[in-house]
Amino acid sequence: MSNEELEQLRASLDDKNMEILKLINERAEIVQKIGGVKSKSGTKRYDPVRERKMLDLIAEENEGPFKTSTLQHLFKQIFKASLEMMGEDEQKALLVSRKKQPDNTVVTVKDEQIGDGNQRLIAGPCSVESEEQVFTVAEALKNRGVNLLRGGAYKPRSSPYDFQGLGVEGLKILKKAGDHFDMSVISEIVTPGDVETALDHLDVIQIGARNMQNFELLKEVGATNKPILLKRGLSATISEFMNAAEYVMSRGNTNLMLCERGIRTYETATRNTLDISAIPILKQETHLPVLADVTHSTGRRDLLLPAAKAALAIGADAVMAEVHPDPAVALSDSAQQMDIGQFNEFIDTLRNEQLLKDGVGEAAKI
Ligand code: PEP
Ligand code: MN
Repeated sequence: MSNEELEQLRASLDDKNMEILKLINERAEIVQKIGGVKSKSGTKRYDPVRERKMLDLIAEENEGPFKTSTLQHLFKQIFKASLEMMGEDEQKALLVSRKKQPDNTVVTVKDEQIGDGNQRLIAGPCSVESEEQVFTVAEALKNRGVNLLRGGAYKPRSSPYDFQGLGVEGLKILKKAGDHFDMSVISEIVTPGDVETALDHLDVIQIGARNMQNFELLKEVGATNKPILLKRGLSATISEFMNAAEYVMSRGNTNLMLCERGIRTYETATRNTLDISAIPILKQETHLPVLADVTHSTGRRDLLLPAAKAALAIGADAVMAEVHPDPAVALSDSAQQMDIGQFNEFIDTLRNEQLLKDGVGEAAKI
């Protein structure tokens, strides 16, 4: 073969490379379009039946000189890269992410704007036990300018023998207290069937740690416009937490708040480990308000104040803590709730140390 012939072959090889390059990117564009359609309809990206058909077609049509197995291997690499590419697009497009929405989401709960830069407190008993108990706590909070009252009516307890909550009776008590003291009430529901009832009784629906990946529940609350307080799962990564939030937001509900409530680690000195760095990470990665539950993360009354200080200093939009008139006889979480005197000291210290800034809204009233 002459040098000239060799040069010609090399040139046509370059041409073929360019053709393949063009075709492979055209193929990628088609994959992206299919990905867009699938994402709208909620269909899974990976379709093994379709992949098998494409590989069979390659086997049927292959005339060599490459062996079919070699070509199938190469095509599988292309399929894999295409799937990965769709995954990257999906991440970029998360509705909860700051990439999608640079401005902070501010969630309006009655007269409070959570995420507006004023840090707030959310407090109340672990479980709603009686009207008298809830009214006593609500009055104490209201006296200190705290307008966000939480209390559990459906308690997802680790043991089925523990107090399970008063259910709808508890929601009614909360609503009565909210109306009486002009406060917003927050409570957890655990099943999609209770969303309707919750809408009538609550100002904020809480999705608890154990239900962070209860996808049917997330979809159901996502279809409402009620503010949602989503807690991080006991062993959930930040990415899993964000994806759980995405379930709510992708159904149209943008009134969403995230709550770091401690994660399970090997440490036994605290009930969970407050993942303090998750707070600024979530603030950076998402546009949603981020709350810190100092009660369930520490499980220790003596750590509520230092944990609250840390959470406020690191940028939490609100701190959540449990308060009970007489924690010693509480039906749940008795070791970690503050009594009313302790709550007053807690709030005084945060205020005196200027951790809850003076200014408009809740912070000023505290
Ligand atoms: C609660 O806030 O009442 C609660 C049960 O917390 P978590 O879901 O974080 O355990
Ligand atoms: Mn509790």
